[in-house]
Amino acid sequence: MADREVDFLLVGGGMASAHCAKELRGRGAEGSILLVGREPEPPYERPPISKEYLRGDADRADAYVEPPSWYEENGVELATARNVMSLDPEARTAKLQGGEEVAFGKALIATGALVNILRVEGAENEGIHYLRAFGNADAIRADAEGADRVVLIGGSYIGCEVAASLTAQGVECAIVALEDVALSRTFGEKAGRWFQRRLEENGVEFHGGEELAAFEGDGRVRAVVTASGLSLECDAVVVGAGVRADAMLAQRAGLEVDDGIVCDSKLRTSVEGIYAAGDCCSYESVVHGRRLRVEHWDVAMQQGTHVARNMLGDDADYEVVPYFFSDLADWASLEYVGPAHEWDEEIWRGDPDGGEFSVWYLKDDRVAGCLSVGRGEDLAEARRMLADRVDAGAAREAIADAGSDLSGLG
Ligand SMILES: Cc1cc2nc3c(=O)[nH]c(=O)nc-3n(C[C@H](O)[C@H](O)[C@H](O)COP(=O)(O)OP(=O)(O)OC[C@H]3O[C@@H](n4cnc5c(N)ncnc54)[C@H](O)[C@@H]3O)c2cc1C
Repeated sequence: MADREVDFLLVGGGMASAHCAKELRGRGAEGSILLVGREPEPPYERPPISKEYLRGDADRADAYVEPPSWYEENGVELATARNVMSLDPEARTAKLQGGEEVAFGKALIATGALVNILRVEGAENEGIHYLRAFGNADAIRADAEGADRVVLIGGSYIGCEVAASLTAQGVECAIVALEDVALSRTFGEKAGRWFQRRLEENGVEFHGGEELAAFEGDGRVRAVVTASGLSLECDAVVVGAGVRADAMLAQRAGLEVDDGIVCDSKLRTSVEGIYAAGDCCSYESVVHGRRLRVEHWDVAMQQGTHVARNMLGDDADYEVVPYFFSDLADWASLEYVGPAHEWDEEIWRGDPDGGEFSVWYLKDDRVAGCLSVGRGEDLAEARRMLADRVDAGAAREAIADAGSDLSGLG
């Protein structure tokens, strides 16, 4: 016998769970809701952690999805600093840290992602950081204060955003990246070079095409050494080497898992009544015609909301085109829809020198992705054309002409 019963169990204290709870109540669901999260805070947005929170321009509470009082006022039981230890899909029970067993009607698994840890020589030195939660940002900020140099490992969002945030605070930063050009894995080399120039002209050193070999130190990290022999002295390191889905709980419970928790197009896992959303969810995307897992703030929010609707009987496919944004201090802001894992053509629109442009990534004449710097209206059209699989090949000239109206295409 379980110790108690809830109608909706939301596992994971992040964006996806919070928005699921909000939508359940917003739609008038009257059943009991229990949201269980490992971290001590109520659900919060992570993007500020590498941006305004890291720079000291925002508080923790600014990032909360809802203030703590919202949960009580809306009859959502919030269990923070608490792990869900196991799920029994047949008995439909969850065991919580401390031993309590909770029976549930429907459940969402939104356990997020885990950072990839680099296990190279010297990795045990103090001052080597990873970034996922508030506490990590506090530790980075403390170490960066008074540091002669901080080295960022990784040329993707986390490395570039943290380098920008710390440089804007007067800390000297150098990025060491496997890729030749910053952010090029997602946006290609030409757009990547545009962002890299913003970083470099604001004082960030970029060392591309370099593989990390070791950290050197005396108990505290003192240098980063690469396979080519480059050695960069530093007082702290921040590693942004990607994340992987945290599917451990689901896997132990016997749910189907690949690079995330396997879901169908309705975000249903392999067990009836159990859904997944956010960074841990690998879903069948009807928009892309393939399986997809992304780590985007907006997707976690939209999927959490969508799961709530399906829990209440909508039974609809999740068809939102994934959206992402990133800021490099106040030097550059980007928005992106896609994701284009591969493309055979790039069409540039607008004025890169003037700082307003979009890049359209086409695969087989269809829009596979679009990057916007200051051209949000382009993004909206790209999103539509991607979702509707519009023949963009026939519209090449219109797309390339920044003055043309794209709303009639398709
Ligand atoms: C530093 C940083 C900057 C980012 N910047 C951007 C950005 O600019 N733009 C953008 O689009 N995206 C950004 N992201 C990505 C975005 O924040 C994530 O996609 C989003 O947070 C995913 O939400 P989620 O609810 O799936 O997972 P999470 O926010 O990771 O929440 C999952 C929670 O579940 C908890 N949990 C795991 N297992 C258990 C368990 N067994 N029991 C209880 N709790 C458990 C975890 O500890 C975690 O607190 C950023 C991420 C980081 C880390």
